[in-house]
Amino acid sequence: MMTIDLGGTTALITGATSGIGRATAVKMAAAGAHVIVSGRDPERGRAAVDGIRRAGGAADFVAADLADPASVRQLAEKALAIGGGRVDILVNNAGIFPFGPTVDVTVDDIDAVTAVNVKAPFLLVAALAPAMAAAGRGAIVNVTTMVANFGMAGMALYGSSKAALQLLTKAWAAEFGPQGVRVNAVSPGPTRTEGTAAMGDGLGRLAETTPAGRPGDADDVAEAILFLASPLAGNVHGAVLPVDGGRIAV
Ligand code: NAP
Repeated sequence: MMTIDLGGTTALITGATSGIGRATAVKMAAAGAHVIVSGRDPERGRAAVDGIRRAGGAADFVAADLADPASVRQLAEKALAIGGGRVDILVNNAGIFPFGPTVDVTVDDIDAVTAVNVKAPFLLVAALAPAMAAAGRGAIVNVTTMVANFGMAGMALYGSSKAALQLLTKAWAAEFGPQGVRVNAVSPGPTRTEGTAAMGDGLGRLAETTPAGRPGDADDVAEAILFLASPLAGNVHGAVLPVDGGRIAV
């Protein structure tokens, strides 16, 4: 079996202080990448970095609030500095997922979800893809959701923000692919993380609608992200890989 070797690369993973992002950071560091863990919470950031370093990996924490475009720009600058002028892998994983009826959604909710789920990935790609393109290589993986693919009551705001990110995945694949930058996405279904803990039994009930019949865990999604970011996916551009227990297949 081929192993994944990310030695010599720098990987920026947003939302790496928790759940899917942290699991991805752990796996990428174990594969040899120098991982930049980002999030708002410095304590969770330090804990993630300490865990990776204790396991022999290389990691740094860079705090950023992705709701603030100035903070996003600073994150990109710091990541470029850590990577010596280039980030090889960008994982746009951070996301917020407030659910609820459309009539209850406020203008502030729309702005917050759009800022973190769409605007921040857009600004990070604009800031980091040019150096990847100049080097002739790079990989970007966006984390979307199964509800970007079908309608579900209560998911209008969240699902539409991730549908935008899914389309951006294809648009960026078209734009940067010719310069050797691969842009892909994973589309998770119900996955047990700190972020979904508050859903309690609701997550399991949602997962009962999938062929797998149970929620996935963060490692399931992280493995798919690792694959798409790695040379094993060398000819994969603009793909959206569902890790949803089969939900959108049926
Ligand atoms: P999680 O455990 O809640 O983690 C979310 C991460 O995003 C945290 O590291 C958090 O860091 C970061 N984040 C949130 N708002 C931020 C902000 N304004 N600025 C910077 N960082 C911010 O979530 P998860 O379940 O792992 O989800 C990860 C991604 O997968 C999200 O994009 C989500 O939409 C998607 N997804 C999840 C599921 C699921 O069932 N879990 C299903 C489909 C899609 P700080 O708190 O440190 O800021």
